[in-house]
Amino acid sequence: MQVTSDAAMLYEKGGFVDNAATLYIKLKNWRKVKELLPGISSPKILAQYAKAQEGDANYTEAAKAYENAFEYADAIRIYLDNLGDPDSAVRIVKASNSVEGARMVATFFQRHNDSASAIKFLVISNCLNEALQMAQDTDNMEVYADAIGEDREPSDFINIAVYYEGKRNYLLAGKYFTLAQRFKKAVKLLLDVSGQDEDRSIELAIQAAGQAKDEQITKQLVSHIMGETDGTVKDLQHIYHLYISLGQIKEAARIAVIMASAEQNSGTYKKAKLLLLGMYAKLKEKGMKIPIGMSHSLMLLHSYSLAKLHMQRGDHMKSARMLIRVSNNLNKFPRHDVQILTTTVFECQKAGLYISAHKSAVMLMRPEYRSKLDPKYKRKIENIVRKYQKKEEEEINTPCPYCEVEVLQTNLYCEHCKYSLPYCIITGYHLVNNGVALCPKCQFPGMLSEFSRSLTIDKTCPMCLSEISSSELIEVEKVHPENFDEEDTTLSTTNKNDA
Ligand SMILES: [Zn+2]
Ligand SMILES: [Zn+2]
Repeated sequence: MQVTSDAAMLYEKGGFVDNAATLYIKLKNWRKVKELLPGISSPKILAQYAKAQEGDANYTEAAKAYENAFEYADAIRIYLDNLGDPDSAVRIVKASNSVEGARMVATFFQRHNDSASAIKFLVISNCLNEALQMAQDTDNMEVYADAIGEDREPSDFINIAVYYEGKRNYLLAGKYFTLAQRFKKAVKLLLDVSGQDEDRSIELAIQAAGQAKDEQITKQLVSHIMGETDGTVKDLQHIYHLYISLGQIKEAARIAVIMASAEQNSGTYKKAKLLLLGMYAKLKEKGMKIPIGMSHSLMLLHSYSLAKLHMQRGDHMKSARMLIRVSNNLNKFPRHDVQILTTTVFECQKAGLYISAHKSAVMLMRPEYRSKLDPKYKRKIENIVRKYQKKEEEEINTPCPYCEVEVLQTNLYCEHCKYSLPYCIITGYHLVNNGVALCPKCQFPGMLSEFSRSLTIDKTCPMCLSEISSSELIEVEKVHPENFDEEDTTLSTTNKNDA
């Protein structure tokens, strides 16, 4: 009956909020509408209210209502044009992904000479050409590059690459030519980088070569790293990464051994060991055999760390046995040779291995070692040399895990079946064929009883240093030579000495 105000009131009393609000808007009764606002569900009505508020220059109210009505572009427009509040506008752009809104925000920043922000919002609003143009004009390419990210079509990167090439920034040019999948060009530019960015650029070139899988590019890169182009040999690490990225695992392993022995020579045994272990994991993952030189290096490094471990735990026999093994390969530990010999003497004495102690003491008297001997041990060692005790706790034999013939427990080669024998990573002795378990993390074997006992003292695997519990140990039913995948045994016998 056109009695709008009565109708509105009745709707309100009856709980028909949307209907009541529509009529109150018609009546311009803003006080009432505002009261009902929280209960209004229809975006259409909210938008009507927002529009009316905007018309009355109540911008804060209008912006809020537009936002609630999902009219993001209008809300953003009011925040920017009427309220001068870009922060709220940016917040809505981010929350709503409104392309139109982003475009308005970009224009706003452009007007206020904030090119970096403008570029960012142009990218969000998918105006890539405009953003790129602005980035070029205002020298803000890194903002643009950062805003578009790396997950785009290759063609999206070519302009960035060309821009950086023009600026003679070959590191970034190379990076973006790689993303544009122009690998040859990328590698060429990256290899031109010198100075502090050189390492970074070689790593990028390696990534590019890894993706390109192009023989010519690889060759060029290898000869660069080997110093054939500029006369300086680059870090071996680069070659290692190159081979890994090309999937040439065998070559990578060869380099890893060289790198590990360099670490070993400078006395950084833990680094050397982790390097070899990492390589081991990669080879196993690819189902490839472990080169004998690599397993031998790892075995020696591990024996050295076991010697220390057993010494700490007061097990002098095991520590002495490991030290004897290490002493027999003293040239692999040049930084600590005297220290190792000295410890060997004392640990052997404590273990009742007097002959072995004497042997190491005699060795320490050689001029090259004697000069480096700690003065506080000098007399003690000299005494041991003088008073030769022909007494030695005999080493036990345990059965070969493959052929069951008795083999000295520290011996890692069976003369009878001609196999290299796997060693227990807790004791360092060869395995016997029952009660063997593997570390769940590195898959190296140990005698279950020793492994469990060790884990009660220290919760880490002595090989890979991962924290594990004895319930996670993987029990092995029978030890097969194939499970301990070194290169074949004929090789291992011939290489035994040079490895
Ligand atoms: Zn055997
Ligand atoms: Zn482990």
